[in-house]
Amino acid sequence: MQIGSRFHYKSAEEIELIRKNCLLVTSTLAEVAGHVKPGVTGLALDAIAETYIRDHQAVPAFKGYPGSIFDFPGTLCISFNDVVVHGIPDQTEIKEGDIVSIDCGVEMNGFFGDAAFTFAVGEISEEVMDLLVTTRECLDMAIGQAVAGNRLGDIGYAVQQHAEVNHKYGVIREMVGHGIGRDLHEPPNVPNYGKRGKGPLLKEGLTIAIEPMINLASRDVYMKKDGWTLVTKDHKPSAHYEHTVAVQKAEADVLSDHTVIDEAVKNNVNLSEIRRKR
Ligand code: MG
Ligand code: MG
Repeated sequence: MQIGSRFHYKSAEEIELIRKNCLLVTSTLAEVAGHVKPGVTGLALDAIAETYIRDHQAVPAFKGYPGSIFDFPGTLCISFNDVVVHGIPDQTEIKEGDIVSIDCGVEMNGFFGDAAFTFAVGEISEEVMDLLVTTRECLDMAIGQAVAGNRLGDIGYAVQQHAEVNHKYGVIREMVGHGIGRDLHEPPNVPNYGKRGKGPLLKEGLTIAIEPMINLASRDVYMKKDGWTLVTKDHKPSAHYEHTVAVQKAEADVLSDHTVIDEAVKNNVNLSEIRRKR
């Protein structure tokens, strides 16, 4: 996507508005998590999310987002297994052993919020659970770098180091995180790769969506003919976790809340908690 070059630093009041949106996004994902089970379709989950968002006086941010072939039709991006991101909700049914990445964005009061979570349906292999846990660790490490005085490259470096160097996973280059605020996608791009100490200086009030997209094996991906669905070339699984954060002095202010999603996962017998088995 084409985004300009000007960084928008937010006031404390604006950050609180963005937080409200982000908390609605993560409570939507928690609501959706309560309905994930084998046999449920992506379209059914999408309808639940849209109703929930509109009941909270907000608007789904992805629905109608301009694409190269057609505008995005869903409230959620639902990406199964080898789909990295931007899966289109359809009649595909969830089945035992799937990993399902669900990405959600909302608009309310003139601001946006964005977050994503990858769910494990029933029992998944230890190898894939390690990928999910590691992708979350990448996100946490990246957030740890989102402090004033650091450089943008520090964020990408943290993800790349943990995923590629420590775990030999693939970090995709085709999609990146982004600034967020009055637009869903604002400057800067926030890549999941980079050089330590390089790139623009991070300053207080910059709000960014950090979203590692990590492949189990090769980082190579291709786009389906729909112009949206991004798939791993080797058809091995890929994971995606996302938070929206505000850069601050001592530590980043994480505006979205994955703990409500973890709680929903814990309360759904059809989902496995995201934690290492060994
Ligand atoms: Mg997202
Ligand atoms: Mg995003």
